[in-house]
Amino acid sequence: MKFSTRAIHVGQEADPTTGATIVPIYQTSTYTQERVGEHKGFDYSRTVNPTRLALERQLAALEDGRYANAFASGMAATSAVVGLLSSGDHVVAGDDLYGGTYRVFTHVFRRYGIEFSYADTSDLEAVRAAIRPTTKLFWLETPTNPLLKIADIAAIAALRTGEQIVVVDNTFATPYFQRPLALGADVVVHSTTKYIGGHSDVIGGVTVTNDAALYDRIRFMQNSVGAVPGAQDAWLTMRGAKTLAVRMREHARNAQVVAEFLQGRPDVSRVYYPGLASHAQHEVARRQMSGFGGMVSFVLDDTARAMELAHSLKYFSLAESLGGVESLICHPARMTHGSIPTEQRERRGISDGLLRLSVGIEDAADLLEDLRTALDRTAAPATVGLR
Ligand SMILES: *Cc1c(COP(=O)(O)O)cnc(C)c1O
Repeated sequence: MKFSTRAIHVGQEADPTTGATIVPIYQTSTYTQERVGEHKGFDYSRTVNPTRLALERQLAALEDGRYANAFASGMAATSAVVGLLSSGDHVVAGDDLYGGTYRVFTHVFRRYGIEFSYADTSDLEAVRAAIRPTTKLFWLETPTNPLLKIADIAAIAALRTGEQIVVVDNTFATPYFQRPLALGADVVVHSTTKYIGGHSDVIGGVTVTNDAALYDRIRFMQNSVGAVPGAQDAWLTMRGAKTLAVRMREHARNAQVVAEFLQGRPDVSRVYYPGLASHAQHEVARRQMSGFGGMVSFVLDDTARAMELAHSLKYFSLAESLGGVESLICHPARMTHGSIPTEQRERRGISDGLLRLSVGIEDAADLLEDLRTALDRTAAPATVGLR
């Protein structure tokens, strides 16, 4: 079965009791048993719920994985995976992570004695150098957020020895464009809040793996810690995921056009998009991705102008998050990455002039017109008074 077909059919069989074509929202916490301990496979909804199960089967299929666990948020999925570790264990993580991931590593898991090293995962030697005898896990994002750097998943997975777990946060690429498990990763994590849900109306997360033992351990965390999505949220995510393929094609097409437009502007000093030949890891991206996604970042030298541009667009809402059908713009230094200390942030290239776009699936001509108008309006300081 091909990708689009899996998205629409796996886990989506007609309801056995009523024939409902669409998986119902099983809004129930518990299930009536026929005799003590005798039930239809469902006993309590933290442990298992039919709507959530349908979502898990659908999302596992999209990653070409055998097992998935759905969570109440991407951070809950992340925490369940890192929660497999014990005090004294070490993690090699990317140095350009989602801000919330960095925050939970630094301010929660470090208190439990788990140690983290941050390396530029687009540099294999930097990753190798960060490995310690106690390294138990590699945490990769690719493309990274917000600089859209690319990590070579297969090359990093090949560094793994023994029981080490390679985790890829595949939120930005989505399984439509990148399948980390096939490249050697052990676990894929998503914030389904973003492209998988796709409509900016529900928070969620998922883990996917082919390893039965890892699945059992993650499932144990899911049930023990209990950060599970409710049936309504699972259903919304499932509905969104059915159209992932068509949406991603449009996101990537629009993003390429936007990136090329920005690159052609002399008043934009840098553009980051893996689909540009000028991108530092364009070749790796071409090798491991089948498309380059919908995220584009760019730099304006003048910080004040960047701040003004952020709220001057008609179709790009100034908002955190990404991956919905509507276009968004954000100022990472003050918004998504505000929890990273300034000095560290700037060292990583997240300057005050950096802007990040989540390019939506509106008509590309409208998006370009919007960007052109706002860039022209904010261009020369001398014209500010004349507007
Ligand atoms: C949003 C995001 C997360 C966190 O997911 P939530 O659903 O907001 O908890 C993790 N990783 C990446 C790359 C994200 O964009």
